[in-house]
Amino acid sequence: MSYLVLARKWRPAKFSEVVGQNHAVSALKNSISSKNIHHAYLFTGTRGIGKTSIARILAKALNCKNLIDNSEPCNSCDSCKSINDGAAIDFIEIDAASRRGIEDTKNLLETVSYLPSSSKYKIYLIDEVHMLTPESFNALLKNLEEPPPHVIFMFATTEHKKILPTIISRCLQVNLSTVPLKTISNLLGEIFTKEKIKFDENSLYLIAEAAHGSIRDSLTISEKVVSFCNRHLKEKEVREVLGIPEPEVISNLLKSILDEDATEALSILDNYGEYEDHEILLKSLMDLVQNIAISQFEKKSSTKTNIKAFLDTDPSTLQFLYQIGLINLKHFSLGYDSFSIIKMTLLKMIAFSQENQKKNPIEIKNKNTPEIRWPKIFSDLNLNGMSRTLLKQASVFLEDEKVRLSFPKNILSILNEDQKNDIEKSFNDFLKKELTYIYDSNVDLNLTPENEEKNIDKGFRRNVKKSMEKDENFNEILGNLKVDSVKFSKKNET
Ligand SMILES: [Zn+2]
Repeated sequence: MSYLVLARKWRPAKFSEVVGQNHAVSALKNSISSKNIHHAYLFTGTRGIGKTSIARILAKALNCKNLIDNSEPCNSCDSCKSINDGAAIDFIEIDAASRRGIEDTKNLLETVSYLPSSSKYKIYLIDEVHMLTPESFNALLKNLEEPPPHVIFMFATTEHKKILPTIISRCLQVNLSTVPLKTISNLLGEIFTKEKIKFDENSLYLIAEAAHGSIRDSLTISEKVVSFCNRHLKEKEVREVLGIPEPEVISNLLKSILDEDATEALSILDNYGEYEDHEILLKSLMDLVQNIAISQFEKKSSTKTNIKAFLDTDPSTLQFLYQIGLINLKHFSLGYDSFSIIKMTLLKMIAFSQENQKKNPIEIKNKNTPEIRWPKIFSDLNLNGMSRTLLKQASVFLEDEKVRLSFPKNILSILNEDQKNDIEKSFNDFLKKELTYIYDSNVDLNLTPENEEKNIDKGFRRNVKKSMEKDENFNEILGNLKVDSVKFSKKNET
């Protein structure tokens, strides 16, 4: 038996085998069973989602000698077989990408007036129809205006915006959607099982993800992975073939960015490799950032450890990192050295990620050290309600084994014993030892968590504003936001 590549072998042969296009398929089946046949169809959608496959099934159904259930091609009559074998005389398939000139189109359209040789309809399928020259389009248009009753045109395109409105208006437009990840990975699972290929679930997911909603791409990628892995797919090897970085690499990279540790970030990058796919690396980093942001928003506890570790990250920092990633992604298509692009992207992320947005547990240092870390550990204390609100206005110093809590006078006067106990317990728990506590009213207002919050808020807005003013790409992407943020900061800073 001759060897068939997966994408061709598992190409759907009837409507019921088409995956992920339920709306389009049921509309087409209905039009066949109700004999409501159009003389021109336009299939639109991104690459590899089944445009020409569905057009072929439709062509078979239109000419089938013994339709099943009034709408499915039988795949066994002469007409169906000849289309399946690519030998049908009355089904003419053209790739406009290679035959786009007026002469080609004229030659083709000259055959329109001849009756079909053995079928009900003579069907023309023009793939990538947007590639036709304007002259060819005009010649086509004349035929679409008054098509002979025995002729049906089918057009497929990835760029329907490039097609003349006069053509679109004469066609029944069938929009196909990109196929969801889960649908693709389920399909791959079924195909691999039938092909007796061993796999684990994560491998399916990785392939489906790399296919970006295209079933054909998922099968082409599978082909490569299956042969590399010798028909036994394991996550680690699949990652290797697809150039998808290990999750630890990505979470270490994100940690180094949030820690503002440029040396660490660049060393991770060096270890990862100068000749790897850095676009995939950046995309994986952005996926992680996005998944963390979504988990924060949904307030669901994620089971994935790499997400869990970052749930405390400031949501605005995540938004910011994502924006920088998005802007820098497009630089990869410029053909410039990808290693330089990823390095500069990471450095940009670190430069804009603010020192004062760190949320790492930090020791309280001695009063004499210049780096007093008090306000930063506030968010790590397990403290709620009124006690938390009151402590927000205190400056705190550690002196030997004593913690000095300094409040404004009015706060100190209302602080009760229960609240003091709560506060002391939260420090003991955090520092994992029993300490003694001193209360006074010598608060340093610059070192209270309340003041810290204000600074972060102001600093972050200032940074966004500054970077937008400097960066043309930012202006492009965040154009409207700029106006809003200027208004917003004016309102808040005065
Ligand atoms: Zn048939």
